[in-house]
Amino acid sequence: MRKTLIAGNWKLNGSISSITELVRGVSSGLQSLNCEMAVCAPYPYLQMVSEQLESSRLKVAAQDVSEHDSGAFTGEVSAEMLLDFGCSYALVGHSERRSYHSESDEQIAEKFNRLKLAGIVPILCVGETLAERDEGITQAVVSQQVLAVIEKFGISALSDSVIAYEPVWAIGTGRTATPEQAQEVHSDIRTLLASFDENIAAKTQILYGGSMNPGNASSLLAMPDIDGGLIGGASLKADDFLAIGQAA
Ligand code: PEP
Repeated sequence: MRKTLIAGNWKLNGSISSITELVRGVSSGLQSLNCEMAVCAPYPYLQMVSEQLESSRLKVAAQDVSEHDSGAFTGEVSAEMLLDFGCSYALVGHSERRSYHSESDEQIAEKFNRLKLAGIVPILCVGETLAERDEGITQAVVSQQVLAVIEKFGISALSDSVIAYEPVWAIGTGRTATPEQAQEVHSDIRTLLASFDENIAAKTQILYGGSMNPGNASSLLAMPDIDGGLIGGASLKADDFLAIGQAA
């Protein structure tokens, strides 16, 4: 039985005071929730959020990681550093990193592996653009993004990892995939994993991301292969984030 995971991605938002308030708000409503919850904070706030969440069920996560472990890589943050700051999860391959920072599948696979080596659960983000969906190549694009990790590090790399299906056209646009559209891709991903290892396929949490909000969360999370959500905009308001947790 897969547990539901609801992860908030704060992106480039927040300040010491607004994040303190947000964490307080989310923490105060956690007791009634059944699912796992995590927040992906900007790097400079990781330590503060970790301290605020000490012994809380709300887990701390990062939005990215370096593919290097140390050395002359100005501005980079390694997986071991994230571990030092109490991160349980980290995103890799978010579409904003893929497009604004030209991250390749190969680089994302390396980042994924660094997290695994450090004992941090990677959340591998995959998803097609609108042009790719219109071209009918969604399955091919998403499969290739997942295969990039499997081909480099083997299917065992996917055990104890999370995949987030995020159609690029639904991120921050207010446009959501229908539950059926999302389920179809989630099921394709699980079938792909099962072609390598049925046990890993059955255990892997596959999250949906793309304008999930309190109004559409229940219908998306009701689908058999949707095991949670990666939430951008709606994770910046404690009430909305908790309402999504409630729906789970
Ligand atoms: C995201 O950035 O991962 C995301 C899903 O954003 P939003 O919920 O705002 O579409």
